[in-house]
Amino acid sequence: MAQLKYKIATIGSHSGLQIFKGAHDEGFKTIAICRKGSERPYKMFNAADEIISIDSYKDFPKIQNELIKNNAIVIPHGSFVTYMGYEKVEKLKVLYYGNKKILKWESDRHLERQWLKNAGLKVPMLFAKPKDIDGLVIVKFMGAEGGKGYFLAKNEKDFNRKIKPYKLRKYVIQEYIIGVPLFIHYFYSSLTNEIEIMGCDIRYESNVDSLGRISARDQIVLPKIDPSYVIVGNIPVVVRESFLPRLIEMGEKVVEVSKKLAPPGLFGPFCLETILTPEEEIFVFEISARIVAGTNPFIEGSPYTWLKYNKPMSTGRRIALEIKNAIKMNQLKRVLG
Ligand code: AMP
Repeated sequence: MAQLKYKIATIGSHSGLQIFKGAHDEGFKTIAICRKGSERPYKMFNAADEIISIDSYKDFPKIQNELIKNNAIVIPHGSFVTYMGYEKVEKLKVLYYGNKKILKWESDRHLERQWLKNAGLKVPMLFAKPKDIDGLVIVKFMGAEGGKGYFLAKNEKDFNRKIKPYKLRKYVIQEYIIGVPLFIHYFYSSLTNEIEIMGCDIRYESNVDSLGRISARDQIVLPKIDPSYVIVGNIPVVVRESFLPRLIEMGEKVVEVSKKLAPPGLFGPFCLETILTPEEEIFVFEISARIVAGTNPFIEGSPYTWLKYNKPMSTGRRIALEIKNAIKMNQLKRVLG
């Protein structure tokens, strides 16, 4: 087993359990890099063959040499980019799965938008200044705090009132699309040039997803009840089958454009974050160029991966399989960034 020479490593958080399980299923040993105090799940679920504890994710570069000595291949996930920043990730010397150069394009909301538009996808309108607001908008902050503090506004006056507590934070003002938020998980193999749909999820966010449990009459009398979008978990979704051809095409276009933006382009797992309207329009408000936590309900595989593989195939396992195939073909470099 050629893959035994390498170990799969990632930060113990986000989709770590899935990545480690997938690595074990494909015959790799695993290393979890955990923030002190967060080691327990990686022991409890037999996920990590080794654990390296660090005080903060920012210290990751300090333990690189240990990983290099172990022939570890690092798998990036959400916690990586969010807590380390793409500039630090770009400088890593350890073997790294994926194209690092694409991270800049997903980390900057303006570059990301350009990418999606070049791929011919519909994106929500952006408002340059609060005085331009002419309908319902969502105001989003940049940075690592997720959807905390995001707010809705209907005009400039409403915006000015709600932005007060966040004066120093960078934000974007985006058209609010009313519809169903749907997160589509893809995998693109640069070894076979094939795109796969791995699954779909909807997120469960606090408090926006619990507001529907309070009647409008009670909401009105509550002193302050702004929605927030702090993610709590992910729920699997199987989409209407007639949407699938469009979803497949969307993924293909994003990959095609990425090849020009940051050669050799996006490969491995990625996710389009969309909203489907009653008119069946699909707006894409974000792209994640790596595994997303929405794949976590599918450790046993999704209906789509079951159709394709006829055995449990999570996104974490698909990554390990791709690395294993690359090793077998003597082309590991093609999946490293
Ligand atoms: P984000 O931080 O961009 O992933 O957004 C967090 C959440 O806000 C999403 O999961 C959606 O529920 C919601 N959201 C983001 N952008 C929009 C939009 N343009 N219209 C409606 N809802 C949105």
